[in-house]
Amino acid sequence: MELLALGACRQVGKSCFVLKTLEGLIMLDCGLDPSYHDDQRYPNFGLAFSYGPLKAVFITHCHADHVGALPILTEKWGYDGPIYMSAPTRELSYFVLEDCMGAWGDEGSDSTRRVGSYTHREISSCLAKVDIVEPEKTIGVGNNVQVYSMIAGHVLGALMFYISVDSYRILYTGDFTSCCTFHLSGARVDIPYPPDVILSEATYATSLKDGRLNKEVEFFQSVLDCLLDGGKVLCPVFAIGRAQELLSLLEMYWQRFRLSFPILFSTKSAHQVLQIYSKYAHHWTRMEDVMSKSPPTWWKRIQVVHPEQLLDAVQQWDTPWVALTTPGTLARGLSLQVFRRIATDEKNLLIIPHFCMSSGMIEKGDEFHVEDDHDWEGNESMGMIRCKTMNLHFGFHADTRDLLLFFSHWKPSCIVLVHGEGEKMDYLARVVQEELGIPCWVPKEEQWVTWNKMTS
Ligand SMILES: [Zn+2]
Ligand SMILES: [Zn+2]
Repeated sequence: MELLALGACRQVGKSCFVLKTLEGLIMLDCGLDPSYHDDQRYPNFGLAFSYGPLKAVFITHCHADHVGALPILTEKWGYDGPIYMSAPTRELSYFVLEDCMGAWGDEGSDSTRRVGSYTHREISSCLAKVDIVEPEKTIGVGNNVQVYSMIAGHVLGALMFYISVDSYRILYTGDFTSCCTFHLSGARVDIPYPPDVILSEATYATSLKDGRLNKEVEFFQSVLDCLLDGGKVLCPVFAIGRAQELLSLLEMYWQRFRLSFPILFSTKSAHQVLQIYSKYAHHWTRMEDVMSKSPPTWWKRIQVVHPEQLLDAVQQWDTPWVALTTPGTLARGLSLQVFRRIATDEKNLLIIPHFCMSSGMIEKGDEFHVEDDHDWEGNESMGMIRCKTMNLHFGFHADTRDLLLFFSHWKPSCIVLVHGEGEKMDYLARVVQEELGIPCWVPKEEQWVTWNKMTS
């Protein structure tokens, strides 16, 4: 059996893997690497096509590193075969792909909006070609490939795939969580036979998550303490996934404690994404359990505001509020603009609710740029961060313990680790080999991985 890794090799971005079968190629995910603005942004489709015709594409979930290159494949390379993903993934992907092309706030025509490498029309055309796959259903490709889909946790609509190809069985995890989060259940892996190979994400190859409940309580308590003290809270978030987790958490606590501080949410597609969450909540989330009410009453306490409105509110409102904004970093955009306005008051609080490299963590006492521009003498205008800052890492991936339990439970003949940091994956691969006795590979980009079936 042969697998070509076109991305997410010793790094997180650009998940795209190609399985070579007797009848042609099967592609698993089709992501981009947002850190590049040249050819390296997308998988090397030309290389894949040199090995045979592409028969089907399976997309695990809506994040850009898994779906961001799909319009390139369909609209630029002309692939018009089947593409499978879940219904929520298809709907959410529209907004993710729009963000990838960098069209935020641009009112120009399709041609002038082409900041990235595809247009609105191409996104719509691409997603119109998608076939919906439900969880726990099998899709046949040709005569000898069967693909069974299972809920993966991680984000609304995420699936993992169990693929039977020419008598081999491969489990591709995509991004997954093995335990439930506040609003999503964990992965439900229900397969008749153990896989020969597990192709697994390893984002948290060497880290352990704290208990979910502790994080939730710490988050709520920190927000509440700041608001009661007259401060304002800023949480820079990624638009799909973490944002809805934190909003549903705040909504539930606001309901329970009868709080009335404004919860502001400002991202380009905030309304539509919340509607998609409500639409698919019943089958795909735990929200009906945790919210104790039906979808129309959710998000009642969340005020979706335009970025301009939010900036006005920041300037003019004296009352405390909590705001969730994009992007998830303070490098640019609305999150940075709001941060600049709250950073100098020690009553305020910045919460980074996801993994943040120690070099990227912002701390009280650090200096920050007050404006993007320099003054007429070329001096930078710097301010001192006086607000409180904290990094609360809500994990949306399986951690080391989850991965080792998962691998030891299924005991595959071999494991291929992708979607993580190289050295950490090397370490995990050594642990897997030494502790579990299972061969474990960490492939390089554009490298073939081959294995033979073990007879049991
Ligand atoms: Zn993801
Ligand atoms: Zn990912």
